[in-house]
Formats: sequence, C-alpha cells, structure tokens
Amino acid sequence: MKYSYTCDLHGHSYYSDGKCSPEEISNIAFDIGISVIALTDHDITYGLDEFESSIKKLNENGKNIIGIPGIEVTTEVGHIILLFEDTKDAKEFSETVHIEQKNDLKTVIKNSSKYNKYIIIPHVEIPYIGSFSFESLAKFFKEFPKEMLHTGLEIINGESLTMPKFLLKKHKTLIHKNQQSGWNRNLFANSDHHSKHGIGVGVTEIKSEKEIKNAKDFIHLLKTSKGGVAKTQKILSKTELLTEYSYIISGVIRKKIFGRRARKNPL
Ligand SMILES: [Zn+2]
Ligand SMILES: [Zn+2]
Repeated sequence: MKYSYTCDLHGHSYYSDGKCSPEEISNIAFDIGISVIALTDHDITYGLDEFESSIKKLNENGKNIIGIPGIEVTTEVGHIILLFEDTKDAKEFSETVHIEQKNDLKTVIKNSSKYNKYIIIPHVEIPYIGSFSFESLAKFFKEFPKEMLHTGLEIINGESLTMPKFLLKKHKTLIHKNQQSGWNRNLFANSDHHSKHGIGVGVTEIKSEKEIKNAKDFIHLLKTSKGGVAKTQKILSKTELLTEYSYIISGVIRKKIFGRRARKNPL
C-alpha cells in the first residue's frame, strides 16, 4: 500500500456543542498531522461551508488535508454519523433532519439512501449520550442489509476514554461481536472532540493503493477498504479533559433550557 491516511471522522464545532470554529478545527487538525478530518455537528450542517473553505485555503497554501462533510444525527435508537462526498449533499440531506429530536432511524436511512455516503455508528453502549446498544446494532444490521455494506463501527471514542473501565470493556466486546456475528465492519477510532484539546485523540490509520484527493475518493476508499488501524493518539491532561467535558455539559444544559444544542449564530 502506497499511501497512508491519519483520519479523525467525528467532531463538533461551535455550531453545535463544540468550542472551535470550523476553521480552527481544520488548522489544528493539519498542525497535528491529521490527513483526513470530518466535521459532524449534531443534527445541523451550518458549519460546513466555512469548513470547506478553510480546507481549501490550507490546500492552496500547499498544506495537504482532506475535509469530509458530515453530520451526527440523533435518532430514537442512538446517534449515527453520516459522511458525504460533498458539502451540497450533506446540507441537502440535513434539511430532512429534525434538530435535537429523536429522528426515526428508518426515515434517516431512507432519506440518506440517494447520496454517496458512509455511516459510522459512534460510542456504542455508552449511556446518557444517545447510543446504540449491542442489541439495537444487531437489529440495525438485520433490518438494513444494504446499509450494512457501507457502515463502520467506532470502537474508540476519544470522549469516552476516561470513562470507567467497565464501559471501556464494551469497546472490546464490540470488536468481538463484530467478528462473532459476521458483521465484519470496518472499525474506527475517532476523537468526538468538543474543544481544541480533543482533536486527534482517537484516529484511524487507513492505507490506500491510490492517492486520495478529495472526499469522494475517501468515501470510496471507506466502502472498499478492509479497514484501518484504530488507535489513541494522545492522552489529555486533567485540565484539557475538563475543558472538553465543559462543552459537552454546557451543550446538554443548553438543550434542557432551549431545547437544542445547536446554535445558528455561535458567538
Ligand atoms: Zn454522539
Ligand atoms: Zn459526537
């Protein structure tokens, strides 16, 4: 394999419950050596135009990085990440998503079916944040056999790395279940970052025979590759962790008060 890509495919900007602007995310990702970075705000795509132009600016300055437009949709079963080949598709799809409400999983899959996209099921079996259980995951793969072909599983979620050991064990159980049940899905480590500290905490190294030039090439690679190596890239200090969590918690509080985490005007 000629090319290797360090990918972080799950993270939030200040358009949902994160701290950074899309541009800060792109710049930091490049600075720490990430070659493919996705933006996946909760139920909205307000930051994607800014994200796309910041990635373009980096590339114009000779800095190679690929941006993947995405969204993390809240469903009644759990969160689900959709990665698209272009911003237009992601934005158009997001018009069908109810913000901060439990979207019907079947409808989400149906509405996304016309797009070239890749799905990642994040933070499986992690309570309180809207997660698939092992049971609902099995049901999902049974119910949507076609989607199963282009769905990956997040086995390391940066935000849950400090969780009690019994929860981290579930990551291992997921790897086991993936084999045992014959799903054989690609496995990912993502950061799920909410501030600059979190970016790149979890990354997946994916190899390719061909050079990946844009999001379209990358979605194709995800659909055809046998997966990558999911790993933890850095360990956060206590202060960095506190910053990360403070944004998640303030997002939860905002949701309780205003009914949504998302902000159209972040400042
Ligand atoms: Zn989530
Ligand atoms: Zn997330």
